[in-house]
Amino acid sequence: MQELNLKALNTEFINKEPEEAIRFIVEKLGVSNVALASSLSIEDQVLTDMLLKINPKARIFVIDTGRHFQKTYDLMDETMLRYKFNFEVYAPESADIEEYVSKLGPNFFYESVELRKKCCEIRKVKPLKRVLSTVDGWICGLRREQSPTRQDMEIFEWDEGNSIYKINPIIFWSEEKVWEYIKAHNLPYNSLYDKGFRSIGCQPCTRAIQPGENVRSGRWWWEDPDKKECGLHLGGHSSVK
Ligand code: SF4
Repeated sequence: MQELNLKALNTEFINKEPEEAIRFIVEKLGVSNVALASSLSIEDQVLTDMLLKINPKARIFVIDTGRHFQKTYDLMDETMLRYKFNFEVYAPESADIEEYVSKLGPNFFYESVELRKKCCEIRKVKPLKRVLSTVDGWICGLRREQSPTRQDMEIFEWDEGNSIYKINPIIFWSEEKVWEYIKAHNLPYNSLYDKGFRSIGCQPCTRAIQPGENVRSGRWWWEDPDKKECGLHLGGHSSVK
């Protein structure tokens, strides 16, 4: 794997456009060794647009938990048609789903934080590990202002849990800036955003929020706001490899 000086890169790219960080990492690691993780959020739609304009053969994957909103699947279709490409889709192991749903029922994730995390682990984290084992770096649409757990994240990081690079090209963007890009480029987006949803994950664990509430407060709303993450971004990150 290419050795990167992350500290120097973060200094170099802090005032550059996100496209430049994306172009750099795709060229450095090779287009087949880097992939964008898309949850079909507005952030991921922006990055999809940027990445496919840089290289139409770029890899973009979706973790299909089996519990997404129908509108999320509709947006997948619309996005594939617009760019004439296919998402790589990764699904949970059927044996995991069969075991837990048979034992605990279809909504077991509401019962405790531990069981919620177990559901995220089998539906999201395990499929993610499979795809990340095929790349040297992944691109994510995280933004610092989304959550207290994202305050110290950088553009270029070393993902310790997965032993690959993690690139967050729009980590410093505001939500307003994301919307500006969406509108300026007429990008397709999930219409649930027009109904008060601000961060969209699985249907049973996502709800609309009121103006002024934290963006992530509609996700796992019954849990402590300082601790809730699905596990996808808890691999441990560092700006120094
Ligand atoms: Fe399961 Fe909810 Fe996590 Fe989706 S967000 S994997 S339904 S606990």
